[in-house]
Amino acid sequence: MCGVVGLIGEPSAGEKLYPALFALQHRGQDAAGILSYDFDQNEFFLHKDIGLVQDVFSSAKYQDMQGSMALGHTRYSTIGSLNKDDIQPMFLSYPHGIGMVHNGNVTNYKEVVNFLRERELRKTFSQSDLELLLHMTGVGLADHKDKTLPQALSLSVQSLLSKVEGAYSVIGVLADQGLFAFCDQNGIRPLLIGRKKQGDKFSYCFSSEKQVFQVLEYEYWRDVRPGELIFIDHQLDIHTFNLSEKKARPCMFEWIYFAGSESEWHGRPMYEVRLKLGEILAEEFQKKMHLEQFDIDIVTPVPDTARTSAIRLAEILQKPYREVLAKNRYVQRSFITHQADLRSLMVNLKLLPIESQIKGKNILLVDDSVVRGTTSKRIVKLLKEAGAAKVYLASTCPAIRHACYYGIDFPRSEALVAHNKTDLQIADILGVDGIQYLPLNRLNEGIGIPNLCSACVDGDYVVPVNKDDFLSHHKSNLKNKNTSNEEVKARRLQ
Ligand code: SF4
Repeated sequence: MCGVVGLIGEPSAGEKLYPALFALQHRGQDAAGILSYDFDQNEFFLHKDIGLVQDVFSSAKYQDMQGSMALGHTRYSTIGSLNKDDIQPMFLSYPHGIGMVHNGNVTNYKEVVNFLRERELRKTFSQSDLELLLHMTGVGLADHKDKTLPQALSLSVQSLLSKVEGAYSVIGVLADQGLFAFCDQNGIRPLLIGRKKQGDKFSYCFSSEKQVFQVLEYEYWRDVRPGELIFIDHQLDIHTFNLSEKKARPCMFEWIYFAGSESEWHGRPMYEVRLKLGEILAEEFQKKMHLEQFDIDIVTPVPDTARTSAIRLAEILQKPYREVLAKNRYVQRSFITHQADLRSLMVNLKLLPIESQIKGKNILLVDDSVVRGTTSKRIVKLLKEAGAAKVYLASTCPAIRHACYYGIDFPRSEALVAHNKTDLQIADILGVDGIQYLPLNRLNEGIGIPNLCSACVDGDYVVPVNKDDFLSHHKSNLKNKNTSNEEVKARRLQ
């Protein structure tokens, strides 16, 4: 999962992406970068590195990003390994000079690599699937260089959409030409467009999340549709192409956990959805309390995403809402590690129990999701060691039993705590006295959208994936990286 942003028609566009990247930092903390283009000098400017936005641009490097068109990226590595070759934005010199960022995963990586090598005599150098998208765009533009640029670009993206499978939301720049953006045919990953009046024209901004527009003082215009290409030329004229008839299948995890609570997608605000999920969870938990004849004393969230749902749930259950896990805000990025054996210590560092509020209480712990179970297990242990009489767990996401191949970092089903397990077995592993998931059949009602991607909970994959091919190709990355979504969550606990 990553954050992407692009801007055109704005003086010092590259510099302005610096605050925008802060607004997308929660989507990726491994690396960050900005690529800008100056039409007057006909020059690209690029700076990217491993680290948080503040570290990568610590020596005011953003001031060097000249020009009125720019791309930015915050990276969480899911497929490409965590090395400098895979950091975005990436760049290809021919044709035109193309720069690109993306969010998502290509699921037929091997097939596309073979196509590029055997049919187009192109060799890739990184593990990043962005490099494939970059080459495929370049191939199409070169094939149609006799056409006008908007025509050539639409034919290029149309061909790319038919050959490259998976989930991808892409923003690109073409030297001397303009800024473009497109989504895969199912629109699994978010991409939005905003605009700002500049004289008799608009300047435009693409972003993974809506709050970027507030930061840059743009008005949100609309979402980029599945299979849609939008090209804004250097005169700020806009060209749109609908290259797919498919309906959107947005990732439900954006509302459950990933997007900031101030964000919104498909007209459904994250905050409002999280309140609604808390409401549904309260109704379901009430039934359990009635059936199993038990009571709870307090409701408490796992900070931070679950807070909104926990507040609503407590209101409905008419139970006291208490924050009994204090977050240490001063633990620095250097403590965050990809090593699994340090992950649990990291959780210890970040959350400390408030014993006086815990001792002897029956606690309902609310979390947004339970993936590997590492974080939940640790927190339950903390609460019990602090004297909790009983700990029940309620999750605003249905049980995650299947891998995600579309850009969230849990590509192995076997690593998921709920994989092939009953609720009783899961409760036992986590050490809780009872567990309540949001029922799968109420997920659409909670989010308010009918055609979500919910493959990780129901196994119904929007884009079929050859699991063995996918895992074998990325084996070394997955083995070496040894991270999970629990770690992403742990990072957001800071
Ligand atoms: S499988 Fe799950 S996490 Fe992955 S895109 Fe679909 S809903 Fe999102």
